[in-house]
Amino acid sequence: MKFIDLRSDTVTHPTEEMRKAMSEAEVGDDVYDEDPTIKKLEFLAADILGKEAALFVPSGTFGNQLALFTHCNKGDEVILGDDCHIVQHEAGASAVIAGVQLRTINSDHGILNPKEIESKIRKFEDIHYPKTGLIALENAHSNGRVIPLKNFKEIREIADNYNIPIHLDGARIFNAATALNVDPKKIAKYADSISFCLSKGLCAPIGSILVGNSEFIEKAKKKRKIMGGGLRQAGVLAAAGIISLEKMRFRLQEDHENAKYLADQLSRFDFIDIIENVEINMVFFKINKEFNKKDFILFLRKNGIKINPPDENIYRFVTHYWIKKEDIDKTIKFIEKFFNQ
Ligand SMILES: *Cc1c(COP(=O)(O)O)cnc(C)c1O
Repeated sequence: MKFIDLRSDTVTHPTEEMRKAMSEAEVGDDVYDEDPTIKKLEFLAADILGKEAALFVPSGTFGNQLALFTHCNKGDEVILGDDCHIVQHEAGASAVIAGVQLRTINSDHGILNPKEIESKIRKFEDIHYPKTGLIALENAHSNGRVIPLKNFKEIREIADNYNIPIHLDGARIFNAATALNVDPKKIAKYADSISFCLSKGLCAPIGSILVGNSEFIEKAKKKRKIMGGGLRQAGVLAAAGIISLEKMRFRLQEDHENAKYLADQLSRFDFIDIIENVEINMVFFKINKEFNKKDFILFLRKNGIKINPPDENIYRFVTHYWIKKEDIDKTIKFIEKFFNQ
């Protein structure tokens, strides 16, 4: 049975074109720097984001944690939003790998107040103080919001005043660039390093990329080895990633439009409230009705639709390459059927 899978854009399978490219990829041992397909992908990624160099890593979490591990020394402090992926969804890895202290600040739907960041920066040496090693931002935010560049510009000015690097968790940077209608370089320029996922809406089966200047990436390469991320004939994976960057990133608007269509259709139910505007490929909503949540999920699953349980009563549906308009119509039909039975 082919499922309509609305749980995440991480569920995207590689396209036929990717599978073909993977089977034909020219490969070598990447730990010996001998995989031409990995090299091509890394060169392409650095170029697209306007940075000097890039490094292929197994996952988005790996890319973020490698960035922390490379920018910071043990005991350093990282300033970041309290609802960001690094804090909420990376299983405490920052304490395990980089050994840093996370200094979380209030996030207003993903937007960080530059003044609050400034107030948290350690401004002088004191025997009691950790050093502020990094500021970490996220765009698009995993709450579906696209952060305006004006906010990044203000944070960059503060970071420069105190000489603190910025890492951008850009797992969905191409969704953000699509929504803002800007070249991704315009987002990347505010950060010293950026990680992004090939394995989400861009359809690659595995992989993320970390970009930065050559010195940073050289250092990160050693740390990647420490983390067990020195891969061998990884060109098989990079071949799919190249298609992600050359082709798939240019079609994200379609996913955003489908998400808007899904939100419009859902909002026709008088008991459903859409939470905020749809900016990327995610729709968040509440169902204001008494019903059995488990039965709802099972009913949809029996009818070929996969959804995640709600998080604090908020459902998240995600559109992607394998979700077409007809799939949304079918989902709406079964939601209607469930609540009318
Ligand atoms: C998905 C995601 C990640 C991590 O990606 P994985 O490949 O699942 O480890 C990091 N940051 C954000 C904002 C994400 O949405």
